[in-house]
Amino acid sequence: MIDLCVLGPSGRMGQQVCQLALASNEFQLTSAVARRGSDAIGNGIQGSTVQIGDSLAKALGEAQVYIDFTVPASTTHAAVAALAHHTAAVVGTTGLDAEAQSALDALAKVAPVFVAANFSPGVSLLLHLAEKAAAALGPEYDLEVVEMHHRHKVDAPSGTALALGKALASGRGLDFDTARQSARDGQVGPRSSDEIGMFAVRGGDIVGEHTALFIGDEERLEITHRAQKRSVFASGALRAASWIVKQPPGRYTMSDLLGF
Ligand code: NAD
Repeated sequence: MIDLCVLGPSGRMGQQVCQLALASNEFQLTSAVARRGSDAIGNGIQGSTVQIGDSLAKALGEAQVYIDFTVPASTTHAAVAALAHHTAAVVGTTGLDAEAQSALDALAKVAPVFVAANFSPGVSLLLHLAEKAAAALGPEYDLEVVEMHHRHKVDAPSGTALALGKALASGRGLDFDTARQSARDGQVGPRSSDEIGMFAVRGGDIVGEHTALFIGDEERLEITHRAQKRSVFASGALRAASWIVKQPPGRYTMSDLLGF
């Protein structure tokens, strides 16, 4: 059994991960760390014997791997706390800032660290296909990304949309940060062939949808991924946790796990 710690057990994703871990015979959910001062436990572990605490150091010291679907500040704290114990990390939190990335880089020197903006196998394939399609179709096809998420999502564009934009830029041979066109509003002028439009739609309970558009003069190709259940991300994160505990220190992502 793999000793697992889950951060943010009351969150939408934290609850799913806890539920699946408790039902699995591969993981032992040794602890869950809630936000300091929070009394929210989450449906995933209500009624179980899982120990809930707000001490990261204690929880990470007892776990082989932790799963983090929280906020970037919490990702930084956890990565720093995990350093002392060499605890493996599986991070799904999106919108990670430079501080969180450098804390994860430091942890990756002593433990395996798996970071994915999207744990669904279908999205990994979407990124792969989008890069190939952008390269194959060439500059006659305009590239755009449209993503849709539930009304509670706090970051935009989504981490997956950013990864999709980067895949398109890489296929086309563009620098993503230069090509990225995050909004069009007002007298923006005609579209250049070197831009990649990025659009975020928010509403209701949409779990997550991403479309890469390749728009030519005579035809349009659209590749869309729709997540139907949040559990696809939670089961992907557990699959990553099971795989990463056998890896040497370093940074890993879905393409390492799936072999794309
Ligand atoms: P949520 O708001 O439902 O849950 C966030 C959790 O983080 C809560 O349990 C909250 O208590 C905890 N938290 C907040 N601030 C904290 C702090 N300072 N310290 C410790 N814990 C803190 O959000 P969610 O929908 O579960 O999403 C969480 C993150 O996961 C987001 O960044 C989201 O974009 C990302 N996400 C990633 C994937 C993926 O496949 N990688 C899938 C879905 C969501």
